[in-house]
Amino acid sequence: MTLVLATRNPGKIAEIKALLPSVPVTAAASFAGCPEPDETGRTFEENALIKARAVSRYTGKTALADDSGLEVDALDGAPGVHSARYAGTDATDQDNIRRLLDALDGISDGGRTARFRCVVAVVVPDGRTWTAEGTCEGRILQTPRGDGGFGYDPLFVPAGYENTFAELDAGVKNRISHRALALGRIADVLKALPDIRE
Ligand code: IMP
Repeated sequence: MTLVLATRNPGKIAEIKALLPSVPVTAAASFAGCPEPDETGRTFEENALIKARAVSRYTGKTALADDSGLEVDALDGAPGVHSARYAGTDATDQDNIRRLLDALDGISDGGRTARFRCVVAVVVPDGRTWTAEGTCEGRILQTPRGDGGFGYDPLFVPAGYENTFAELDAGVKNRISHRALALGRIADVLKALPDIRE
């Protein structure tokens, strides 16, 4: 039996696999016709549940969804739940980075505090749900640096570090990230499921 990951984001899939090394996972894209519901929720939790419920219903299996994003204090928490489509519906990571840099134009280093937030949701076929959240504090640079990771990683320096998530080793990101913390907090739920072992 397998845990179905309710995401098509290759960056997220790679990190979730690394963070749950003993859990057999399958990407939702492996199930032909698997729905990709609109993320109409106002919170990360609502959106994570929308995605996990849709995939669990369709596949008849336990599903795990991650809804996450970047909250920038100087922008009153934007882009937040709109992080993936900040620069438009079909925005690339580069487009979103450019829009964020434009929005923060003129704001000094001290005013560029931000955090990544992640909510993971687990939904089992009988409809029961669990969620867990993780955050990672940091700051936004004036110019992108590094080739690793995905999304806003080249702009984000986690608190206590000098390098961006795109420069740091993936193992470092996977120890301190919002995603690592959220998955760590839901690990007991996964362990207790009869057909999935952590
Ligand atoms: P969603 O959860 O699919 O709505 O999209 C999350 C979006 O937030 C991603 O497309 C990224 O732009 C951003 N994001 C979430 N987690 C990370 C991360 O770990 N690094 C960089 N960007 C992230």
